[in-house]
Amino acid sequence: MALIVQKFGGTSVGSIERIEQVAEKVKKFRDNGDDIVVVVSAMSGETNRLIGLAKQISEQPVPRELDVMVSTGEQVTIALLAMALIKRGVPAVSYTGNQVRILTDSSFTKARILQIDDRKLRTDLKAGRVVVVAGFQGVDEHGNITTLGRGGSDTTGVALAAALKADECQIYTDVDGVYTSDPRVVPKAQRLDKITFEEMLEMASLGSKVLQIRSVEFAGKYNVPLRVLHSFQEGPGTLITIDEEESMEQPIISGIAFNRDEAKLTIRGVPDNPGVAFKILGPISEANIEVDMIVQNIAHDNTTDFTFTVHRNDYLNAMRVLENTAREIGAREVIGDTDIAKVSIVGVGMRSHAGVASRMFGALAKEGINIQMISTSEIKVSVVIEEKYLELAVRSLHTAFELDAPARQGE
Ligand code: ASP
Ligand code: MG
Repeated sequence: MALIVQKFGGTSVGSIERIEQVAEKVKKFRDNGDDIVVVVSAMSGETNRLIGLAKQISEQPVPRELDVMVSTGEQVTIALLAMALIKRGVPAVSYTGNQVRILTDSSFTKARILQIDDRKLRTDLKAGRVVVVAGFQGVDEHGNITTLGRGGSDTTGVALAAALKADECQIYTDVDGVYTSDPRVVPKAQRLDKITFEEMLEMASLGSKVLQIRSVEFAGKYNVPLRVLHSFQEGPGTLITIDEEESMEQPIISGIAFNRDEAKLTIRGVPDNPGVAFKILGPISEANIEVDMIVQNIAHDNTTDFTFTVHRNDYLNAMRVLENTAREIGAREVIGDTDIAKVSIVGVGMRSHAGVASRMFGALAKEGINIQMISTSEIKVSVVIEEKYLELAVRSLHTAFELDAPARQGE
């Protein structure tokens, strides 16, 4: 008998029919003897609808009131699911975040969970009840309703699993697991049986949007085994866990991630003195612009070229700041490029294997793809390339690192 926290996202509870299906699923686990806590999101589209209502009153709704309102989406689904369970003879009870007492800080619309009171939940479980908890919401020390940021129900699920020391936190969604790359770009992408928290964090921050990033951080911190599964198809899904066996068979690379969210800025002919990087990036950070990759080159004439990337939304702003800086420090020119893409290979296996980066560069060279920037970390190598080569780059790396699914019969 296990204690399992199951989280169902918006599309999984998007209609009465689906809520009935979820109830069937939960019932099956319970008939097996497992203790179940279910966390649900609002019905799909509901949170957006609610935010839309608020925006009809004001472009920037008061955050406290916004939270009072958007938290109602989840309140509807917990009640409906509890009803559907009870109808099937499964004793169940629903709670809002406030009723459980999921204590958060007071940062409305992006609150952080501070503490969870598990007493009520344990009493109910002991009495044989399935507990249905509203995702995405909590309460601050003053009794104000708070929400955890978009996609926050994932974090509620993981936090409850951590508080209850659950055997597993299962995130049910509309995909059957975490893939080696985005299947829309790489038709040969495969579902991973397992991935580490670290790898998942890199994949998630690089644009693989299966889980809210904070939920993965939380799961890693408290070592909550996390599994991503399809709500309505059978299958093992993907287990996200700490890396226990660094086995020899472990693939070197777990996945190829990419994004088109960045833009590149270069300041050329900068007099090369100590403090140059600070003079260039100081004003950028003062403008609240986050910098991702950075490269500095030394030229022959005692000047240097300095290139960095920012989010595309920050590009025009960053350009303005950089042009100012260029005038002040006497740099030759500023150029920019928004048609870039970042492609990364991610895998804990590269810790114990040499030559991973050069294999990556070799694969790109073979396709004639020029690398503009490179950055590395312990479990990741990223390159910036011209955006039009993105698909080609991702597919050829997927092949080069032997991630392609075996061809099916008849193919
Ligand atoms: N309902 C919230 C949202 O749409 C939270 C969630 O679904 O995780 O962002
Ligand atoms: Mg989600």
